[in-house]
Amino acid sequence: MEEADDRSEPVMSERWFRSLLTNISDTVSLTDAEGRLLYTSGAPNNLLGYDTDFWAGREPMTLIHPDDLDRALAGWRRSLEEPGVEVTDEVRMRSANGAWQDISVTGVNLLDDPEVRGIVITSRNVTDLRRAQRLAASQADVLELIARSEPLPTVAEACLGLLADNGVSGRSSIYLIDGDHLEISAGAAPQSLVEWMREAPPSPERSLCDAAIASEGPVIAVDVHEVDLTDGLRYIAANEGIRAAWSQPITAIGTGRPVGSLSTLYDEPHDPSDHERRVADVSCSLMAIALERAATEQRLAHQALHDGLTGLPNRTLLLDRLDHALARRERNDADIALLFCDIDRFKVINDSLGHNVGDQLLLAFAQRFRSVVAPGDTVARFGGDEFVVLLEDITSPTHAAQVAQELADSLARPFLLPAGKEVYLTVSIGLAAATDHQSGDAWLRDADAAMYRAKEAGRNRLAEFDTEMRDAAMVRLQVESDLRRAVDRGELLVHYMPVVDLRSGRISGAEALVRWQHPDRGLLSPGEFITVAEDIGTIHELGRHVLEVAVASMVELGLHRGDRRFLRGVNVSARQLNTEGLDRVVRSVLERTGWPGEALLLEITESALLLGPDGPVDVMARLHDLGVSLAIDDFGTGYSSLARLGHLPVDQVKIDQSFVGAIDRHDDRLVRIVDAVLAIADALGHQTTAEGVETTAQLDYLRRGHCDFGQGYLFSKPLPFDEFARLLASDPRW
Ligand code: C2E
Ligand code: MG
Ligand code: MG
Repeated sequence: MEEADDRSEPVMSERWFRSLLTNISDTVSLTDAEGRLLYTSGAPNNLLGYDTDFWAGREPMTLIHPDDLDRALAGWRRSLEEPGVEVTDEVRMRSANGAWQDISVTGVNLLDDPEVRGIVITSRNVTDLRRAQRLAASQADVLELIARSEPLPTVAEACLGLLADNGVSGRSSIYLIDGDHLEISAGAAPQSLVEWMREAPPSPERSLCDAAIASEGPVIAVDVHEVDLTDGLRYIAANEGIRAAWSQPITAIGTGRPVGSLSTLYDEPHDPSDHERRVADVSCSLMAIALERAATEQRLAHQALHDGLTGLPNRTLLLDRLDHALARRERNDADIALLFCDIDRFKVINDSLGHNVGDQLLLAFAQRFRSVVAPGDTVARFGGDEFVVLLEDITSPTHAAQVAQELADSLARPFLLPAGKEVYLTVSIGLAAATDHQSGDAWLRDADAAMYRAKEAGRNRLAEFDTEMRDAAMVRLQVESDLRRAVDRGELLVHYMPVVDLRSGRISGAEALVRWQHPDRGLLSPGEFITVAEDIGTIHELGRHVLEVAVASMVELGLHRGDRRFLRGVNVSARQLNTEGLDRVVRSVLERTGWPGEALLLEITESALLLGPDGPVDVMARLHDLGVSLAIDDFGTGYSSLARLGHLPVDQVKIDQSFVGAIDRHDDRLVRIVDAVLAIADALGHQTTAEGVETTAQLDYLRRGHCDFGQGYLFSKPLPFDEFARLLASDPRW
């Protein structure tokens, strides 16, 4: 029992207290009213590094930083006036090694306490804590600058400020790698050193910064007298009073490669402390973050103004340059011109070759254009296959047309496709010179209208803008928006052009030709809207509609029940052929109507088959499997090779009317093409249809050449269904 009592209320000896006090991290001291030290626990050696003798009779106040002294004395007085009250403060005190330390102090006046008779002071060294807090605060300040996208030099200055605020003495500066030299970005370095870094040949020996960058770690010369330096550096150090130097690489966040360095110079030998190194590390990381951020911003800015595929200026940047060019023109009256370039039939190429290959082609195309155009002029990618060239330094009236010719010439060589195939590209170019009081937008529209005229005139050519084109462009816009609704509104009609069997002279089929009953403009022929429908994609809807109407009307005539093999010709555009699903559309129409595939002929224009890949051939083969016959339309106008013709699953060749027309005119060379086509088709086992038969002379000639079928105004114009049905019922003979 007694033992237990002993433990609950131990008799605490003075020794016991002493050992307790000497072993806690705080220092406990006792002074008299004058501040003289009466007692201190062992720890003041830990607190400021002095040994115990030092404190004998010492007034700790004398070690306080002069700037903190007034405050400390005020606290002292308060303590004297208010016995028993805790007074706290934090002051800087000089340590044994001469450095200032942050000391947190709490004093309680117990002079009146007969057991104590002194002022009890508890102190703690909070230097490390305060340093860490200060560094964190500085770091937050710099990060905020970075987050606000302040310019790089401002952030660099702040990084140097962070060094100074956190105990890195010496002259610091930041260098960034610029080509093969280091360029100062912020800080005060001797001019001779800055120039040396700029001009001396690059090598790790050039400077400590170069050495730090090469070794990817800090390089420190504690005393430049003690280290190997090149003569150049030694001279600069001597002249500028540099005694110690310290360089630390700045490493890019993404790549981990050095992008610059932090350099600190000292007038005296100096070995940076662990804390100084930490501060330098933080400063370098912040600089790396700022550089990364700046690079990202630059990249984003570039992306916003450039095309991702070709790297050329995009529409936004182009419009900006146009406005600048127009403003400059106002001032110095220089001639400027725009070339609006659109790759011919690119949609077909893209659909049939696949978009990857399409992208490669666009890239190669852009490179050829860029190589032709003078460096000061702009080549921009305006949209999918549209490129705009801005010529700002026109030297002669024909200058712009010459550039257009050079652009066209640059396409004379074929583009290589995967698997050794080749494709030739051509462009239609619209030229528009700037006029007064024009906006960039309006100027572009003029060039676009001229380009459209070049397309209409047969593509692969240049057209120069005139004001009448502006109206045409307006009309085209109107056509686009009207056409999108034409199918739904039932404005698309199908007319039928009889096809005559030249042996019997009787109608043996008909070609379906679309017409547009426009609410304001009357009956429009396909030439006025098929290309537009192809451009805006409405062609798929249009094609399906014509096919359904044509087959349905044929079913209505009940022709398939007769023994006559009546062929219904329906035109298929290149875009339809090159997108998947045409065979599915055809099959569903055949299934729904019960019309036999054998009595359907699809006409595919020759130029759709020009291109290398097998996409169209696959679709054609699947159509063939449905029993559907296939014809090559406008044969002779598309430059397809004979080898290719031999490989296509084709049943019929339609000779273009331009050749048939030549028969009357006795244009021998074209007539010989008719002969040749008839012979080739015969050799390949294809049937032939001559288009545009207008005279009996032509008819006779074709009959003599054993052409199978003919169609043309000699027999009949394309007719609305009712008229066609009547004509068919009258069973005419030619
Ligand atoms: P195409 O397939 O070569 O059609 C023949 C064109 O020549 C028709 O013009 C026809 O009216 C015209 N033609 C026929 N015989 C004569 C003649 O003796 N003299 C003259 N002066 N012309 C004659 P159309 O109807 O204007 O069609 C033009 C082109 O539009 C067609 O050429 C075809 O490529 C395209 N097309 C017509 N309907 C459609 C369709 O439903 N879908 C697609 N994708 N294209 C179509
Ligand atoms: Mg046709
Ligand atoms: Mg034709």
